[in-house]
Amino acid sequence: MSVISNHMPTEELQALDAAHHMHPFTCNGELAQKGARIITRASGVTLTDSEGHEILDAMAGLWCVNIGYGRDELADVAARQMRELPYYNTFFQTTHRPVIELSHKIAELAPDELNNVFFAGSGSEANDTNIRMVRHYWALKGKPSKSVIISRKNAYHGSTVGAGSLGGMSAMHEQGGMPIADVHHINQPNWWAEGGDSNPEDFGLARAQELEQAILELGEDRVAAFIAEPVQGAGGVIIPPKSYWPEIQRICDKYEILLIADEVICGFGRTGDWFASEALNIRPDIITIAKGLSSGYSPIGGSIVSDEVASVIATGEFNHGYTYSGHPVAAAVALENLRILEEEDILGHVKNVAAPYLKERWEALTDHPLVGEAKITGLMGSIALTPNKETRAAFAAETGTVGYICRERCFANDLVMRHVGDRMIISPPLIIKPNEIDLLMERATRSLDECLEHLQRNDMLRSA
Ligand SMILES: *Cc1c(COP(=O)(O)O)cnc(C)c1O
Repeated sequence: MSVISNHMPTEELQALDAAHHMHPFTCNGELAQKGARIITRASGVTLTDSEGHEILDAMAGLWCVNIGYGRDELADVAARQMRELPYYNTFFQTTHRPVIELSHKIAELAPDELNNVFFAGSGSEANDTNIRMVRHYWALKGKPSKSVIISRKNAYHGSTVGAGSLGGMSAMHEQGGMPIADVHHINQPNWWAEGGDSNPEDFGLARAQELEQAILELGEDRVAAFIAEPVQGAGGVIIPPKSYWPEIQRICDKYEILLIADEVICGFGRTGDWFASEALNIRPDIITIAKGLSSGYSPIGGSIVSDEVASVIATGEFNHGYTYSGHPVAAAVALENLRILEEEDILGHVKNVAAPYLKERWEALTDHPLVGEAKITGLMGSIALTPNKETRAAFAAETGTVGYICRERCFANDLVMRHVGDRMIISPPLIIKPNEIDLLMERATRSLDECLEHLQRNDMLRSA
């Protein structure tokens, strides 16, 4: 039995947390003063904290709890697998039933040519695998100079040194010696923030053509791959203009650049399809997966690799792998998650019920005085907060100040809605019901109203 229980007073738990626990992506000094929120249990779309608040989790944890909280089936499968075979590695020419079955299932769900899975413990690790795999692929093809991976500013591909380098988060690059060599970043297709006077479709095309310019500048013989999220998630749910992806695909085909679609968020139903690549007509050579693969019930990630790339890699030993590649418990949990997604037709629920209803309600937020644009695809959405809708102005206050104020109002109103700069984002569990969407919208609107009041009171409704 644990000596620390949920029934201890919140302040005691917070003090112990502050004394010993270093939180990721957090100013721990500041948090120690304030005290962390303690989540004690969860069910469906609802979290409960140590003060008894019932919080609607419109972020599905970190974009991952797609089937919702509290599914006993996953706990049962994990317990059963732990008793039968808690661990064995997949290095020494060995395998086991859960990893065989999961590879098979993923190959069945993935687009046609993608039939091979290299497992990792997370999305970051999977993208580290991808860096090494695409470079090794070109080396095996006799083109070792093809080592540059092109990515995008404000992309998120994880937080290991490799994945963080692929990502385009400047605040991350400032710390700890990133990016690594031979990663090149082009601009993102964020029309709201960067589109100026151009129309969105022209802008999308121009931003895609930056890939071609980069390839020509670097030299075709230097470029291994392009990596991108079909829809940028952590960058603020940036849905690219329709013109963007077809042009990216054309350029990758023309110059024989491998395309890595990072579907860690988009995959497994978030956009209403098994993979966003399908709906967007993207033909990736590698798809990165994690998060929704297990609905976050156990840590697992991977790379789904095309037959072409896998067959080249198979010609020699790939000196790469993780202790927990294809972990049997994580694989069993992922399989059960996929079974539930399929048997309960949760993608159908997203496509036919939840997404259309949320879209209608979400897009109506543009009637709110603070909301410039409201974008949504499937069950991932964002709104841009602005002091001036016509000019799409940023706030005079430092970027993120207003977003943070809004997020604090959301927390106070028992809603987890995250901010990225001054964009507010949601990514609720896929099982969310219309009445829960109503509650989400009610709390979001109240939070926006309170944020607006706060800005007015403090003379902060000013443009940069
Ligand atoms: C979260 C995320 C990752 C990193 O996954 P981790 O499991 O946190 O390492 C990679 N790519 C995208 C698109 C993500 O959203």
